[in-house]
Amino acid sequence: MNATTDIAAVLDRAADGGRITPEEALDLYRSAPLHALGAAADKVRRKRYAGTEHIATYIIERNINYTNVCVTACKFCAFYAAPKDTEKGWSRSLEDILRRCAETVELGGTQIMFQGGHHPDYGVEFYEEHFAAIKREFPQLVIHSLGASEVEHMARISGVTAEEAIRRIHAAGLDSFAGAGAELLPERPRKAIAPLKESGERWLEIMETAHRLGVESTSTMLMGTGETNAERIEHLRMIRDVQDRTGGFRAFIPYTYQPENNHLKGQTQATLFEYLRMIAIARLFLDNVAHIQGSWLTTGKEVGQLSLHYGADDLGSVMLEENVVSSAGAKHRSNRMELIHLIRTAGRVPAQRATTYEHLVVHDDPANDPVDDHVVSHLSSTAIEGGTAHPELKILSSN
Ligand code: SF4
Repeated sequence: MNATTDIAAVLDRAADGGRITPEEALDLYRSAPLHALGAAADKVRRKRYAGTEHIATYIIERNINYTNVCVTACKFCAFYAAPKDTEKGWSRSLEDILRRCAETVELGGTQIMFQGGHHPDYGVEFYEEHFAAIKREFPQLVIHSLGASEVEHMARISGVTAEEAIRRIHAAGLDSFAGAGAELLPERPRKAIAPLKESGERWLEIMETAHRLGVESTSTMLMGTGETNAERIEHLRMIRDVQDRTGGFRAFIPYTYQPENNHLKGQTQATLFEYLRMIAIARLFLDNVAHIQGSWLTTGKEVGQLSLHYGADDLGSVMLEENVVSSAGAKHRSNRMELIHLIRTAGRVPAQRATTYEHLVVHDDPANDPVDDHVVSHLSSTAIEGGTAHPELKILSSN
């Protein structure tokens, strides 16, 4: 700890909405008592949402994984197949993707997260075609997808600038970026886990370009692959600096590395206390980012509930389909009824939100809660036809 830091004084200042330095954030992250840290973050959250501070939100969305073929070979990834691995590699047809969109609409979903590998053949034209087709058939679905890494890749394949790639996919139907691929932005841990990805600076530069062009995004952080506490705080600093210029990051979403089926297997995961401390520090340090999301998918439902008392205002989504994180071992799954229950028993009023965080349905009377348990998360091999992990959860047919 920095010998000159008065933890209690910094915590008080942060809780009152004062900006803290990266050094102070690191001291708080390392040394502040856990409950005091959570209480300070919760105070900031309540102040920011004065009037609706009793509400916590969730969204119904579907991740659509269009291909697992990828040239980038990130060491933490259990999802990808190298292009030469034709047995393991797959790509979904546009027809299949549209069927998944139809199911999403049927189940009350409002958002699509298009997520996949860096396929060597997929340039800007591929995304233009797919986004335009989705918007043509399902104009009500928000396409909140991809991130700077995909932009860098598709621009390279098509021989255009990142700015042109963003303009074109936005014109074709992309509404906002999901901020995928941030992983860890500082150079050392990023090179250690994703040596073939663009640098953290480049990731931020592309996001900044998107924000300037009117395409907002969320931001993410992958915790637990061997990074130091200082590198975690540096990741937050890099995001805050860009946000000071653009205001385009709607939310910050940390999640924890899952250790199965990938090259980093066996390395330490972030502990759940470290995760809660990160949620709280993010709320205190990222004073310019509106929403902090707790992740039940990688940390479990109870930790998700706790995160709502450590500064988070959102519990993410009922993922109607998820194949990436679950391939690496995330086994938690939920459904709309349960997510509503989790939020309510954490002491908040649940509200279904839009991608832009407006409240679509506020569940203020438990007597009116939905009783439709079909709105269920499907994990990895359940969503992939022929999968066996949870055969009772067959993907719903569009018929
Ligand atoms: S994380 Fe994404 S870019 Fe990296 S190997 Fe997996 S699919 Fe490819």
